[in-house]
Formats: sequence, structure tokens, C-alpha cells
Amino acid sequence: MKDTLVFDARNIRDGVFNNHEVEILTSQLELDLDDVQFISPVRGTVQLLRHSEDNIYVKAEVFTDIEMQCGRCLEPFEEDVTATFELQFTPVRNPEDIKSEGDGERYYDGETFDISEDARQALVIQIPIWPLCSQTCEGLCHGCGVNLNEEHCTCQNTDKIESETPSVNSPFAVLPQLLETAKSENKSKSKNRKEIISKNGTSKT
Ligand SMILES: [Zn+2]
Ligand SMILES: [Zn+2]
Repeated sequence: MKDTLVFDARNIRDGVFNNHEVEILTSQLELDLDDVQFISPVRGTVQLLRHSEDNIYVKAEVFTDIEMQCGRCLEPFEEDVTATFELQFTPVRNPEDIKSEGDGERYYDGETFDISEDARQALVIQIPIWPLCSQTCEGLCHGCGVNLNEEHCTCQNTDKIESETPSVNSPFAVLPQLLETAKSENKSKSKNRKEIISKNGTSKT
């Protein structure tokens, strides 16, 4: 069992897949996210293949267990996270020769290479931004706050009744009245204006 994701290319036998079982502390991978607890070390398999003049092909599968808080019912829940990734390391003797690294393309000094950051990123991408304990999670009641996955409450019904019949407390309840008064005010105003205009008109001619 290997406890690091730093590999020495000189130990890789040519022409065959060199398999490594790994177990790494999450602190070592800097897996430190808000609202996510890593509850087991990162374990997995890393396969290395050296080919054509010290090029290293890497195929890795890593997994861990996390605990998060459900975005709907706020209960903590556990989930396993698995990530797979492939990389290609090309030896570069002169750092100036390093071109921009494409997707999965890496350079190394021909001796050691580190896939910690690749493993970290691959795992982080798998962690949901809006975690749900279940797709069918009912969440919490807006009225009394009970977890609707566990119990039912009576305020759900009253919520419905309130939304069906316009309540007096609603700011919109007074709207029809306001509109009526506004209309009649406009009418009387326009009347006055007409009177003024006609008065002015007659005074001019
Ligand atoms: Zn939930
Ligand atoms: Zn309720």
C-alpha cells in the first residue's frame, strides 16, 4: 500500500502496467471544503505504463466517503465519491521546453511526478454543489419546520387554504380598491383639465 501520489518513474518496469494500491490522508491531498466532511482516507488504484522513451501513461481510480448536509431537510448524510482520470506525462529536461498543458497532458523531469492535484480536482468535481440526501427528499415544512420525510404536519393544509383564498393580510388584497379610486381620481382630474383648457381657449379667442 502506497501512502503518497508521488511516483518515481525510474521504478516503473517497461512494457507492463505497474499497479499501485494507494491510501492517502485527505489532509495530504488538501481536501478541505466548506460544508463537506471527508470521513475516510482516499483509496484507489493507480496504473502506470512507461512507453516510448520515458513517457508515462497514468490511469487512476480513487474514492472516498464524505458527509454533507442535505440542502432541503438539513440532515447530515453520507455519500461515497469515486473519480477516474487518465494522464500522460512527457519528460522535459529543460523547463523552458514546457508548452501549455492540455487536458490530461503533463510534463515531468524524467524522474518523479505527482498526481495529488489531479486526484484532488477529480474528486472535488464529483461532489455535488447542491447536495440532497435523496432526489425525493421532502425537505422541511415552511410553517412549523418539521422534517417532512419523517412526519406529517397539519400546517401544510392551512398553507393551501391561505393561498387559495386571498387573505386580508396580503398586500395585493387592497389593489382592486386602489385601482378603483385611482380611476375615479383620474376622471375627475381630466374633467377639471378639460374645463381649464376650454376656459383658456375661450379667453384666447
Ligand atoms: Zn434531505
Ligand atoms: Zn408544518
